[in-house]
Formats: sequence, structure tokens, C-alpha cells
Amino acid sequence: MQDIKLRANENRGIHQLESGNDLVGWNEVTQGSILPSFEGNANNIAHLKAEERSYSNHNSYTATVASWRVRKPVFNIDVCIDCQNCWVWCPDSSILSRDKQMLGIDYDHCKGCEVCVEVCPTNPKSLLMFNEHEELGTALSQWPEKKKKEKN
Ligand code: SF4
Ligand code: SF4
Repeated sequence: MQDIKLRANENRGIHQLESGNDLVGWNEVTQGSILPSFEGNANNIAHLKAEERSYSNHNSYTATVASWRVRKPVFNIDVCIDCQNCWVWCPDSSILSRDKQMLGIDYDHCKGCEVCVEVCPTNPKSLLMFNEHEELGTALSQWPEKKKKEKN
């Protein structure tokens, strides 16, 4: 698996994170299986970043749900204010953030639930949903303008 931190730092917000085909797919796992988050003892692991923990091929980190997603969130760094709302609310820990800077989306684990888009407070939003196969550049070129406040 590639190093998520290195990949994220390559080009903050533009580099969309995806490890590719080397992860176990959700449909390759027996129904009812439980995939622990990481290998080993949970004591003293809180200080380790996700990419610093130990994994086998039977952890949720080394499995992917990407193939069931039909729509994906796209991140626009030009609008983001690094408020971390999306990181707090994402139910799948798929928002990548380091040192309080939003880095991008982990598309291997994002389910496309749209929660991050809902909670993003900027105008326009810094995360918007697009069809799964939309190119990043095309998505960014369609970004809406800032909405003006309506006068009463
Ligand atoms: S769409 Fe859902 S799973 Fe994906 S990054 Fe947003 S909140 Fe997380
Ligand atoms: S919720 Fe929106 S503005 Fe806040 S960090 Fe996430 S993308 Fe950026």
C-alpha cells in the first residue's frame, strides 16, 4: 500500500488519494466478517497516525469499499477554510487532515454518503458530490460561484 501521508503532501488538495487495486474489496470478504482496524494491541496506539500502524490484509484499512460508490465528494482547496467539520463528521474516517489542514479524501474508504458536503460551511461549499468517474479538473471547472446574501 502506498504511504497516504506522502501522497497527500505531494499536492495538497489536488492529489486525490486512491491506493488502487492492491486492497481487499468489500465483495471479497465473507458476509458477517469483522475486520479490525489494525493489527496488535490497542494500548498506546492513539498517538500513531493511520499510516504508522501495523496492518495485515484483514484490516479495514487494507480493505476498500470504493467499488460500490456511485457518487464521490470532490474537494476544492481554493474555498476551504480548514475548519475540520468534514473530518469530525465523516463516519468512515475518509477525510485526510494533518496539522489541522484538510488534505483530501481517501477514496479507498469513502462510501459517498455526502455527510462531509452537508457539514461544509463555506460559500460555495469546498466539497461537492460528482459522479464517480468525473475527472477532478472537470469537476473543479464546474464549481459554483459564491452565492450572494438575499436582502429582506
Ligand atoms: S462522502 Fe461520506 S464517507 Fe466519503 S468523505 Fe464524505 S462523509 Fe466521509
Ligand atoms: S468542512 Fe469544508 S471548509 Fe471545513 S475543512 Fe472540510 S472542506 Fe474545508
